[in-house]
Amino acid sequence: MSLSDIHDRIAKAEASAGRAAGSVRLIAVSKVQPNARVRDVLEQGQRCFGENRVQEAAGKWPGFREEFEGIDLHLIGPLQTNKARQAMELADAIHTIDRPKLAKTIARLAQEMGRCPDLFIQVNTGEEEQKAGVLPREADGFIAECRGLDLPVKGLMCIPPVDEAPSLHFALLAKIAARNDLTGLSMGMSGDFEQAIALGATHVRVGSAIFGERVNE
Ligand SMILES: *Cc1c(COP(=O)(O)O)cnc(C)c1O
Repeated sequence: MSLSDIHDRIAKAEASAGRAAGSVRLIAVSKVQPNARVRDVLEQGQRCFGENRVQEAAGKWPGFREEFEGIDLHLIGPLQTNKARQAMELADAIHTIDRPKLAKTIARLAQEMGRCPDLFIQVNTGEEEQKAGVLPREADGFIAECRGLDLPVKGLMCIPPVDEAPSLHFALLAKIAARNDLTGLSMGMSGDFEQAIALGATHVRVGSAIFGERVNE
């Protein structure tokens, strides 16, 4: 599907949810995609991208940044504490803040570096064993803790369980955000971004619908 098709679908979903045009940001998830495909999407004017791995982002994006103005890079994969500095140097936003140790490390590095990417707290809405994110019942406390560290928390992020209706998870995430006065909602992927927009997503993370299937994941 072409980039402009995705933009059309986002615009329609915004309109039918009664939301302002342009209120949803499209993050084109370029993980594992060959550089030629990423370049193609850059040449169509897309500037906001998502990557899962710091290492992969470090190999790909500094070069593209030299070539294309205004790139906005979002890290959307699990982040190890020992990669936090590199992540903060590379990214404009990190969507996967999910534990006190990582929050504290980022706070310390932000002091040192004099800057900090926008941060999203990942919530494990499905309470899945293998999945990152704070549990829903721990979210309020963790958000408060991050704010206490002066971190620029912009919103919440979730990845619903594959075998459940995503709407319930999007609604839960929106509810946690609202009661904590957070406006950012990073939710919705290729298969469900319209539902996410209906439930308030401000950032949708769309990979395969733009780039085609990932080949060697
Ligand atoms: C890969 C990935 C996406 C994009 O998934 P698609 O189904 O290809 O759109 C979105 N969010 C996260 C966290 C991902 O890892």
